[in-house]
Amino acid sequence: MGTTPLIFNIQRFSTHDGPGIRTTVFFKGCPLRCAWCHNPESQSFTSELMVDADCCSGCGLCVDVCPEGAIALAPDGRARLDRGRCTACGSCVDYCAQAAREVAGEAAPPVEELVSLLLKDRSFFEQSGGGVTLSGGECLVQDSAYLEDLCARLHASGVHVAVDTCGDVSWERIERVAPYVGLWLYDLKALDDELHRSLTGASNARILDNLVRLVRMGADIRVRMPLVHPVNDSEESIGSTVHFLLDKVGRLPVSLLPYHAAGNGKYRRLGRAPREDFSAPDDQALERIRQRFVDAGFSDVEIGG
Ligand code: SF4
Ligand code: SF4
Repeated sequence: MGTTPLIFNIQRFSTHDGPGIRTTVFFKGCPLRCAWCHNPESQSFTSELMVDADCCSGCGLCVDVCPEGAIALAPDGRARLDRGRCTACGSCVDYCAQAAREVAGEAAPPVEELVSLLLKDRSFFEQSGGGVTLSGGECLVQDSAYLEDLCARLHASGVHVAVDTCGDVSWERIERVAPYVGLWLYDLKALDDELHRSLTGASNARILDNLVRLVRMGADIRVRMPLVHPVNDSEESIGSTVHFLLDKVGRLPVSLLPYHAAGNGKYRRLGRAPREDFSAPDDQALERIRQRFVDAGFSDVEIGG
């Protein structure tokens, strides 16, 4: 038996993770460490406590209830967490009247339970041409049997399944769920391998290889490119992506995803420092990038989505 996956969010009525109205399941844990990740709680494979220090009133209730002695009131009157001791047990969460504490990551329910939860929105999926999107983190590094069973049951129920992936997984994991996946939302971050390593902590070799193999398989794919200034939005960087696509996989639909800093608060709640040196390309730059794809013959290029 594999390890039970962790889920950190199930978002209903999503319109950004594939066609129509969708429910997106966010699995926790990712092989990459993208420096701009707007869901930093998605990266670790273990549950984590998130604390909003600004909400803390200093009542001290969490201090008393923590079985690990991981919390103390600091001189500023707020609860301070010793992350080395915290086991993310969640005991303190319900005691906080200020809702300053939350655990990111819960064990996924049995597949049949998750499927019946997801099917509650089936009428919205049917009316809108939507479905379920499996995202993360990286959903494909979760227990393969669980993922395959989940995809197969949704598919058998007539639900369109999209997989949002970073692509840095073994081909066997992709192959296992491929028969049930109607759309691959495939992230491409940088073609330069050195740049990719420095920004994500991993090579892009397997990611590019898997994309080529998926295309050969005849899969329906939309490439998603996060655009982060000043790291991967240069003419050179965009040009090499366009060339790679033309050369290896053809004119796939492309979504350009401008960076946003919405995740910065989450970094702080995880006790991590957000990057302050990233921004979205401005509107003119975004339009130039979009036009670069259009000029190369790409007919489906959207900003956002
Ligand atoms: S999650 Fe558990 S271990 Fe962590 S601070 Fe709260 S009570 Fe303590
Ligand atoms: S229970 Fe909440 S408000 Fe009270 S000290 Fe702990 S974090 Fe602060």
